[in-house]
Amino acid sequence: MKILITGGTGFIGHRLMSHLRTHHQITVLSRSPNKVYQRLGHDVEALASLQELDNLDAFDAVINLAGEPIADKRWSPAQKDIICQSRWQITRQLVDKLKAGSRPPRVLISGSAVGYYGRQGDALVDEDSHPHPEFSHEVCARWEELAMAAASEQTRVCLIRLGVVLGAEGGALRKMLPSYRLGLGGPIGSGKQYLSWIHIEDVVNLLLFLLEHEECSGAFNATAPEPVTNELFSRTLARVLGKPHFARVPAWAMRLLFGEMAELLLTGQRVMPVRLQQAGFHFRYPTLDKALKETLGGKRNA
Ligand code: NDP
Repeated sequence: MKILITGGTGFIGHRLMSHLRTHHQITVLSRSPNKVYQRLGHDVEALASLQELDNLDAFDAVINLAGEPIADKRWSPAQKDIICQSRWQITRQLVDKLKAGSRPPRVLISGSAVGYYGRQGDALVDEDSHPHPEFSHEVCARWEELAMAAASEQTRVCLIRLGVVLGAEGGALRKMLPSYRLGLGGPIGSGKQYLSWIHIEDVVNLLLFLLEHEECSGAFNATAPEPVTNELFSRTLARVLGKPHFARVPAWAMRLLFGEMAELLLTGQRVMPVRLQQAGFHFRYPTLDKALKETLGGKRNA
């Protein structure tokens, strides 16, 4: 297959590439082609701009993962705009190019996040749950809507509503580890808010699953079937690292440090991957204990 990937240089894209490159021909759309070659090697083709293409007829599949990190900086109005536009613009351009062709790719798999649902308390959330309107919902809803515009008889569209992706090479876990290794990690706020997570290997496997399964389309919760409270996540992480677990991070400190962005961590969603399971997808890391032990194996004191 010829596959076009946006965000291929990122945390998920990098891991995905190691699985795809042996069997498929990959082109990565990136703001920096040099970064593509340095990070992914020279057997991957780099594309600096979609303007170089008339359409996407040369590709069988498109995977769209690009976007400014959501939780790296305070959400000033300018930063919120970057978070939105970095996803919306590239998705709009991809879909315009896809629709400009006569033999479009058979599938577009486009990113989204469990933030689509907004804060949900401890209610179980499936793909049909009613979202709570807030910034994370606004970002994801428009991102999904733009991607869905590519759907046609020739092209199916799959949306992956990702939970917190657990992997050693990046993402939230890499940011959490320093304080946990010092024995200073602990739950945030009440600790009762739910955290929906997924092991990075399962993200890669579900992307491969959705590429291959032509009956799959629409939104899929990309989370392990065992969402946990923030308190349980924190306790499990400390235990797997062999560290104490007594610290707490109060909600007021989070709000002082991170402003509105703190709500991402102080509230949450208890998301179930109902449609993936109905489709027959098998999670290799269904429990947090197994996922963290694999991720941190051999790196407990690194
Ligand atoms: P990364 O933060 O690693 O970034 C992915 C890529 O997006 C980068 O390599 C970069 O590619 C591109 N990018 C970054 N900032 C911008 C920008 N301002 N404008 C345009 N492109 C930009 O993402 P992940 O791999 O962690 O995640 C992939 C997608 O999945 C993201 O959209 C993310 O929001 C979503 N997601 C991830 C979760 C996670 O836990 N990791 C959880 C929920 C959703 P380049 O520099 O080559 O252009």
